[in-house]
Amino acid sequence: MRASHMGLGGLVVAASLAYQPANMVWWAFTAVSALAWPHIAYWHSCRQRDPVQSEYLNALVDSLIVGCWIALLHWSLLPSICIMAISLSDRSFLGLKERWLHFVIALLLGAGIMAALIQPSPQWLAPLGVQISLLPLVILHTAYTSHSTRRILKELARQNQQLKLLGRIDPLTTVYSRDYWWQKARTALRLQHTRNEQTCLLVIDIDHFKRINDEYGHIVGDEVLKLIGLSIRQCLRSNDIAGRYGGDEFTVLCKHAKAEDAYFVALRIRDKLAQIRVREHPQLRISASIGVAAADSSFESVADWINAADSALYSAKTAGRDQVIDATHPPANRPSNSPATIPMPEGKTALPAREQDAVV
Ligand code: GH3
Ligand code: MG
Repeated sequence: MRASHMGLGGLVVAASLAYQPANMVWWAFTAVSALAWPHIAYWHSCRQRDPVQSEYLNALVDSLIVGCWIALLHWSLLPSICIMAISLSDRSFLGLKERWLHFVIALLLGAGIMAALIQPSPQWLAPLGVQISLLPLVILHTAYTSHSTRRILKELARQNQQLKLLGRIDPLTTVYSRDYWWQKARTALRLQHTRNEQTCLLVIDIDHFKRINDEYGHIVGDEVLKLIGLSIRQCLRSNDIAGRYGGDEFTVLCKHAKAEDAYFVALRIRDKLAQIRVREHPQLRISASIGVAAADSSFESVADWINAADSALYSAKTAGRDQVIDATHPPANRPSNSPATIPMPEGKTALPAREQDAVV
């Protein structure tokens, strides 16, 4: 950018010099500042550790040169204002906007030094040749600016999309975040109300998780939570949606599942969590209590639904933990807890493949 802008800016000054009885020194100065300086600046930048600081110094020299050019242009208004505006707008593109006053001072300094040397008589109106020589610079600058703006907007959109995706995932456990999961639960409940689509909710709470933190420390506790997220996801069917409700509590939406199916998913999760092992602490074991509640038209909100699953969870805790209780079916009618009766997962987990890659 510097090479093209300074090169084309030098062309304008050269066009102006052609209309004046200029001596070789000013021609040489114009050639060096327009053609050699951008390469010197690049060479200088490549050797510096701090790219922002080195670009700041280069930009100061640019402004000094532009100031000199304005004096060489005999203050011709159109080319002077164009070159000055382009030079200062390039600074903001380089992220140096907040130091604009330094560049204005450098520009005035350059103009002052050159004015003292050549004492130019003002020629406010530039000759036609000089005005025409401005066109390549103006056109290139406009094209470059619009291209850069488009590129930046595209990059911004990509990063926003990435941020949105990241915001959906709980970073520790890699299941969905509470807010995102809640949106999905709201949709599932609405579909139950409007189309009678069956969805079941599991609320999973790890038993005595505080003891894990107390006995092994919070780092191990975090590692266990990470493994719990992974294990839950491995037990889900492709449509199921797992979220972290908070702390050691997880929630799962089992889409298109009757209470019996969800109950088996819950059993599978309970058994999978019991298999979690931490290499450095082979004696560490965890268990979970799980409450199951099918969506019901009597639930007015997700909170009502969660409350129903929560009371089943509470029953599981008070009944001795490490078990699944279904809010909608009395324990006597429930199928056997035998792992042999648990159906295999349908292959995929609830998260898309890219998000699965983020796991531990
Ligand atoms: P209960 O069987 O009744 O559920 O007992 P509990 O000890 O699991 O009690 P509770 O579920 O109320 O407490 C959860 C604990 O999980 C509290 C907190 O110390 C711990 N915890 C919450 N979030 C995190 C976390 O991000 N990392 C770690 N390491 N611990 C957490
Ligand atoms: Mg707990």
